[in-house]
Amino acid sequence: MPFTTPKPAGRLMRHGLPLCFALAACEGGAARPPASAPKASPRAPTAAAPSPEPGLRLPAGVRPTREALDLSIDATADRFAGTATIGLEIDAPTDTVWLHAGGLTVKEASVEGASGAQIATWSQGEASDKLALKVPAPLGRGAATVRLRFEGPLDAEKSRGIYRVREPDGKWYAYTFFEPVDARRAFPCFDEPGFKIPWTLTLRVPTGDMAVANTRLASETAEGGRRVFTFEPSKPLPSYLVAFVTGPFEVVDAGTAGRHGTPLRFVLPPGRSAELGYAKGATSKFVGLLEDYFDLPYPFGKLDVAVVPRFWGTMEHPGIVALGQPLTLIKPGEETPQRRRRYANIAIHELGHYWFGDVVTAAWWDDIWLNEGLTTWLDQKITDRFEPAWRYAIEKAAALNLSLESDGLSSSKALRQAVTTPQAIEASFDAENTYFKGASVIGMVERWAGEEAFRRGIQRYFREKAWGSATSEDFLRAVGAEAGAQAAEALRTFVDQPGAPEIAADLRCSGGAARLHLAQRRYRPAGAEAQAGRGEGRWKVPVCYRYPAGKESKSSCHLLEGEEADVPLEAPGCPDWVLINDGAAGYYRSAYPAKLRDRLRALAPKGLSAPERVLLVGDVRAQVAAGGAELNAALELAASLAGEADYRVLGASTEALRDVKAELLPKAQQDAYARALRRLYGARARALGWLPKPGEGDDDALTRPWLVSWVAQSGQDPALRAEARKLADAWLKGQRQAPTDVIAPALSVAARAGDAAFFDALSAAAEKATDRDRRAAILGALGAFSDPALLERAFEIALGKRFDPRESRTIWYGALYRSWTRDAAWAYLRPRLDAFFAPMRDDEASQILRVFGAFCDRDRRAELAAALGPRAERINGGPLALAKTLERVELCADANARHQKAVAAFLSRY
Ligand SMILES: [Zn+2]
Repeated sequence: MPFTTPKPAGRLMRHGLPLCFALAACEGGAARPPASAPKASPRAPTAAAPSPEPGLRLPAGVRPTREALDLSIDATADRFAGTATIGLEIDAPTDTVWLHAGGLTVKEASVEGASGAQIATWSQGEASDKLALKVPAPLGRGAATVRLRFEGPLDAEKSRGIYRVREPDGKWYAYTFFEPVDARRAFPCFDEPGFKIPWTLTLRVPTGDMAVANTRLASETAEGGRRVFTFEPSKPLPSYLVAFVTGPFEVVDAGTAGRHGTPLRFVLPPGRSAELGYAKGATSKFVGLLEDYFDLPYPFGKLDVAVVPRFWGTMEHPGIVALGQPLTLIKPGEETPQRRRRYANIAIHELGHYWFGDVVTAAWWDDIWLNEGLTTWLDQKITDRFEPAWRYAIEKAAALNLSLESDGLSSSKALRQAVTTPQAIEASFDAENTYFKGASVIGMVERWAGEEAFRRGIQRYFREKAWGSATSEDFLRAVGAEAGAQAAEALRTFVDQPGAPEIAADLRCSGGAARLHLAQRRYRPAGAEAQAGRGEGRWKVPVCYRYPAGKESKSSCHLLEGEEADVPLEAPGCPDWVLINDGAAGYYRSAYPAKLRDRLRALAPKGLSAPERVLLVGDVRAQVAAGGAELNAALELAASLAGEADYRVLGASTEALRDVKAELLPKAQQDAYARALRRLYGARARALGWLPKPGEGDDDALTRPWLVSWVAQSGQDPALRAEARKLADAWLKGQRQAPTDVIAPALSVAARAGDAAFFDALSAAAEKATDRDRRAAILGALGAFSDPALLERAFEIALGKRFDPRESRTIWYGALYRSWTRDAAWAYLRPRLDAFFAPMRDDEASQILRVFGAFCDRDRRAELAAALGPRAERINGGPLALAKTLERVELCADANARHQKAVAAFLSRY
């Protein structure tokens, strides 16, 4: 989607404990990584079966108090080795200690309690990520220390745990990505977010490499051809926030950040510091703005930005925030408004997590919305303060539409949802829900309670829970204490139940008095089934409304607690119109009777703010989807906004047109649809053209890539199609420079009608490209050919070994989405789904499951359910993602059948 920012998609030893084990053969340091993958024997010596394996959570009674890691990492090798020394507090005598370890091979284990050290036997289930350590004599209450020596693989495929990537310079670099449950792949640990402990890291790397971690370097020494980096102990952190990078990096000084003048540095593969211009200038300002909101200094002692490869690496690690290369590295001349906004918003998001997530951590995954919802709400606020001209409130309205759409599905989940299975951990990171709904409901209550009172609530929450863990109850209590009990209660109704309210509004005027009638129920699109016993509750909704009163308009709010309410308006006579989501801050759908809807449509271009226009389009589309209005209502509103300059309002307008599934229409209507698009949006698209113009405004630059390609593709504009091919040819030959934002869609437009020679030119250029952004643009276009034989070659590349699968996967995203490639992509993938899903991370697999939601017929739905269902069960987060996809396909098919008359009526005018 062009007008919203997708989110990615992300633990002190006071006494130097010996690095080798009391009872193990001391080798003078941690083991070196084996030169190549040994035939590891995963079965550990087990003296006796341990107690029954615990469920999802580790058993209570044994807690970590600190962990020291000593890891030997050579990014050119495919395995690493290390030792872990874990301090414990034991509540009741036990002979077994359970912890997490995934894919690691334990070599030695011992546990030292009050009565001395004992060799431990251990067992790891074949497919389990839990490790049981058993000692002959039970450990008593009090402190104990576990010592482990282990080895593990360096991931080169899924970017999880410790992973390695080769850069175009031919050198290897190692990175970490642990959230939610992959720290256990890097070292044995208590891998649950509620365990916040100090961590001490020692990293042994080849002489040519360096290492950077969460905390400041304590010492660096040389040791037999290796460099040994030892870092200061960390603040209490959960395992998923431990992070480090190793490799032949360059470190670029970028001044200081924050009230304490914390040094700011960028860590990146050498030779690319010229691409840091924007990031170097902006990042310290983000820290200052965040400090100002909390009125507290930056909470960690150092700040490095690890510029990680594209793959799933952007993450809020304290002291070493990970930001992706395509986000952070902007070539001189390619600093487009898209790139600036994307970097600012995502960097602010990750740094915002330092407060929400790092200093205060959700106690368990069921409260992860506290991390992500609060941080998304905060990133919107701080992005707006960083650059008010971006008018970020419009982005928020677009995000509101996204999350309200998702929340209308029967399969939608409550913000706070019990997490009792591994599946549910990943599912708790649902972007539309956890991130955007979380941010929206917080924003709604903030507006109603007042920004200052709400800020005091946030500061109280932060103060009370700093360096610890928090639950939703903790948050609501703090908000209630400062912003009022009603604010907390209103918020609670949105946290504990799924779905979103639809507020039906009407004006009731009699005897010179006007009243606003409001009624709430759960919003559902027609065909979405109510599931018995859930989600049909009632909300406490702060409804803020606006209506004309004389020459001015008047705004007020009403807390709708019951099913309906009559609210007196202070207007002379009966107002012409009423808008029941004043400022577009409320998390609910608004439903108006036809007469009021028509008046709002007439008012929209000049009388509603840009965020209100964006939300109104979403509301009318939702009303259409619910069967409360004909599709014409949305199409007419869209048409009235087709002249909008703002790229987000224009984007909302085009969304309504996209509700028409043109590819399913009869040919004559398809042509009329293309004419309608050209008539409504063609002039703007042609005026923009494919290439940026000197001195143009941000709106033009931000509109161009998606509007021009949409008019060229769906509007069948011959001139724009021909220009795309010309631009593509010149760009491929190096004769023309163009920002990637523009070139990616132009290549896809050209590919649609492209021949074998063009396909060959693209695939050769992809191979030669040294820049990931450029390569992604080219690969994405390979999946856009109409020619079935060429499309099949693209699919072979996408599943083949010629490119890193993490990069060539971009072919699928486009091919499964586009109307003219979707069926061929599915036909190719259907018998190859095992190979398709095998190299994917669970979060990525969940995300791609959503792309299948572009289909719009019931037969296809049945095929998808049969083929993807069993696979989704094996993907963490998969069942929820697939349920939403199947529901969307079904709703689309139903709506398509329902809208035929309205579509015909609308298209008859073009
Ligand atoms: Zn986040």
